[in-house]
Amino acid sequence: MLSDNPMVSMEHISLSYHSPQGETKAVEDLSFSVKEGEFVSLVGPSGCGKSTLLSLLAGLMKPSQGTLSIHGKVGYMLQRDQLLPWRTIRQNALLGPEVSGKITQQDKDTVDHMLKKYDLWEFRDHYPAELSGGMRQRVALIRTLAIHPAVLLLDEPFSALDYQTRLSVSDDIGRIIRQEKKTALLVTHDISEAISLSDRVIVLSSRPAKVKQIFDICLTVPHHSVILAREAPEFPEYFNRIWKELNQDAQ
Ligand code: ADP
Ligand code: MG
Repeated sequence: MLSDNPMVSMEHISLSYHSPQGETKAVEDLSFSVKEGEFVSLVGPSGCGKSTLLSLLAGLMKPSQGTLSIHGKVGYMLQRDQLLPWRTIRQNALLGPEVSGKITQQDKDTVDHMLKKYDLWEFRDHYPAELSGGMRQRVALIRTLAIHPAVLLLDEPFSALDYQTRLSVSDDIGRIIRQEKKTALLVTHDISEAISLSDRVIVLSSRPAKVKQIFDICLTVPHHSVILAREAPEFPEYFNRIWKELNQDAQ
């Protein structure tokens, strides 16, 4: 059973960057929370402060104001897969546990199990250059999951992929995250991607990022497939409402 306790909570968070040119307010008085097992997307205009928010949640920066809490370890996945070209797929997948200590037999078992489960086992001794973009992104996710994070932060993880690949990779990644019962926070500027993957979509304003509107997504097709989700009767309505919310802002 999933509990109602928030896994992630941000309360009245503000952050400003300081440079010789002056102060840039990136986030202002922003509050939201994410429950255990929930998949939440953040959408907002380019440069509004989305990556800044994830960096705050990953603990890479401290907020100027406000309080923030995350229960458990955080796994962070970025736009590019960041696989090391000179390491095999299995060695890359083991990098997470390796940098956070030493690799245990349990880590090896976890990684091998996921490589098998997610159709990468036969490529375990191959190098990243021999794999498709989608397969590499799956390896990157396995590497992130191998440290047993409670919360996954995903910063536009599909945006380097072409449209076709992007659909099937987001389908794969979404399914893996749900199968592994992870709490996830996805940053994207693709409205369809956000609706098809998420339980909730949070629309952010232009910089400094504030919460403009939160949409609970409830589609009458199972969430298991992002392709099927796009065919749900409610999909166009959500799309229009979110699109309007985003574009009201872009003057
Ligand atoms: P997004 O991910 O939504 O595109 P970011 O969080 O990367 O936006 O950036 C938000 C704003 O903060 C932008 O105006 C950006 O130029 C500025 N910014 C980001 N990182 C830094 C930094 N290290 N120093 C100064 N300004 C920054
Ligand atoms: Mg960004």
